[in-house]
Amino acid sequence: MHEPDAQTRELMLENEALRSRMAYLLEQAERNHAIMTRHQAFDLQIVGAGSFTELVSTIFCTLPLISELDVVTLSLVDPEADIYTVMHKLGVDYEELPNLLFCEHAEELGFTAPQGHLPRPVLGPYAPSRHAAMFPQPPKDLQSVALVPLLRNTRLIGSLNLGSADPNRFTSALGTDFIEHMGSIVAICLENVISNEMLKFIGLTDSLTGVYNRRYIDRRLVEEIARARRQGYRVSCMYIDIDHFKQVNDSMGHQGGDEVLREVANRIKAELRISDALARFGGEEFVVLLIDADLESASMVAQRIRASVALSPVHLNTGERVEVTVSIGVATLDDFERDHAIEGVAQDLVAQADTALYQAKANGRNRVVSLS
Ligand code: GH3
Ligand code: MG
Ligand code: MG
Repeated sequence: MHEPDAQTRELMLENEALRSRMAYLLEQAERNHAIMTRHQAFDLQIVGAGSFTELVSTIFCTLPLISELDVVTLSLVDPEADIYTVMHKLGVDYEELPNLLFCEHAEELGFTAPQGHLPRPVLGPYAPSRHAAMFPQPPKDLQSVALVPLLRNTRLIGSLNLGSADPNRFTSALGTDFIEHMGSIVAICLENVISNEMLKFIGLTDSLTGVYNRRYIDRRLVEEIARARRQGYRVSCMYIDIDHFKQVNDSMGHQGGDEVLREVANRIKAELRISDALARFGGEEFVVLLIDADLESASMVAQRIRASVALSPVHLNTGERVEVTVSIGVATLDDFERDHAIEGVAQDLVAQADTALYQAKANGRNRVVSLS
């Protein structure tokens, strides 16, 4: 065989260089394709999230994996703590979500934009002094961060904060199209899920007193009875009715009556455990569901409520004071009536508490009657 001449050798080398360049580009293309596919799957997952918890959990669990990040946190602008409070009432467990952060003012997020412009992502080295609020529990080796503004229309609703141990991962020279796109999808999903949860919450609460409404208790009672049957604990129910409330309205006016309703709701709530549920059932009637409480302990709670309402008058905004008392009927789900439909058992429990209340009224009001 002939030795290749110099020209052929050069061509062969060039060919080899081109091949390896091709292989590199192909690998990059495949890698980008894989990233794109993962991100499309992520987009679909967050768009489909059915609840606030599901959405933020997906962001915290999936995003670090698909984007190879070392930390992801989310700051939400929540001026009146409405989001915080409602999500808490709907059962969101903040201990499980340490990277979910709330701030009072959008300015606290630290984005600056020239007049008439919207804030853009900020990429650069991690600086504990500047980024402590966004990364309260930073991983030890955090090196570079991207703070992505979450915008709805022109309003800054929060910030998605990405952190990496790679100092070159987020630099100010990097393009931001990709993370801006991600930020806009996250912002839409967040706003959607938050307003849905708010609506759900409004549908289950009483606007005058802020406690739950009848719809909530009806649903919760069925859930609790099912759970009580499985786990064998007691569920008790209290029916509370304000005594001679018509007279309160007559002498203090409807406005004064409303204030009394709010104060009585607060006094009831103050005597309950976090696992109990209080609802206004309409008019001046409240129902309390006591979880894991037998008739005796439920009656003790009822006595405390009765005493707390009777003990001191309600102070109205007008400066007037009103003496108020309540009558309370207590009933407990004793044997679990396993062969009866849960809905019927739930209705019977409330009806039994109502019967006990009727007796408390007949016995002279400002008292507790317990039916076993
Ligand atoms: P009793 O001791 O037998 O319970 O007497 P009562 O006067 O409380 O009984 P009744 O149930 O007849 O009266 C309830 C009153 O509550 C009548 C109604 O005007 C008033 N009420 C119902 N809903 C509201 C409300 O949202 N705000 C105010 N201020 N009053 C209400
Ligand atoms: Mg009544
Ligand atoms: Mg009444």
